[in-house]
Amino acid sequence: MRLVLVGPPGAGKGTQAQFLAAHYLIPHISTGDIFRANLKAGTPLGEQAKSFMDRGELVPDSVTNEMVKDRLTHEDAKNGFLLDGFPRNVAQAEVLRDILAEKKTPLHAVLEFALGDEEIIARLSSRRTCRDCGGPSVGLDKCPTCGGEVYQREDDKADVIKRRLEVYTEQTAPIIAFYRNADLLISISAVGSVEAITDQAKSALKNVAQ
Ligand code: ADP
Ligand code: ZN
Repeated sequence: MRLVLVGPPGAGKGTQAQFLAAHYLIPHISTGDIFRANLKAGTPLGEQAKSFMDRGELVPDSVTNEMVKDRLTHEDAKNGFLLDGFPRNVAQAEVLRDILAEKKTPLHAVLEFALGDEEIIARLSSRRTCRDCGGPSVGLDKCPTCGGEVYQREDDKADVIKRRLEVYTEQTAPIIAFYRNADLLISISAVGSVEAITDQAKSALKNVAQ
């Protein structure tokens, strides 16, 4: 299965991505996670990404596209993958289409998690993230997955959230029409329990040819 997840920040993409990747036995490739791991490790890539991430802006396509292109050549992505957070604008979507066309391995589906603006702001401002595993936590002092210490991401602070939403509306939302036109789009609501949304996602993907 070659799958892309799309949705506004706070839609729960990352959480669903982990369940779906485990279910379909494909790697979960999150560009946000890769950037944060590089930041933590102090690599040049992390240095390059930091100022953009802290402001809620997209990291330049030249950097991001190369990183994804490389990641897709890894052995574990040979039998499929789940992309989370990429593509994030139409230019990235076109680059992805071309990379996959060259390998004759086009996408099977793009799953959209739909969520209204007010709900997004409410979720992001109360979200905390685990320093150890990167998992989300709402209303807890410790990570529910690994017990690690939680913190508020620099980009989950109010003014940056506002900018991330603008960036989503202006730059990312247009890829939804792009994928609808390509006949790849499946939309589900991001409101409900984690389990209910995973079930909806799996049943929506049942009808997708692999
Ligand atoms: P979100 O919670 O908004 O889904 P992510 O963890 O996916 O957050 O991304 C965090 C930040 O990493 C983004 O605001 C952006 O600066 C950078 N980033 C992640 N993916 C991309 C991408 N495909 N293109 C450019 N920048 C990206
Ligand atoms: Zn954790």
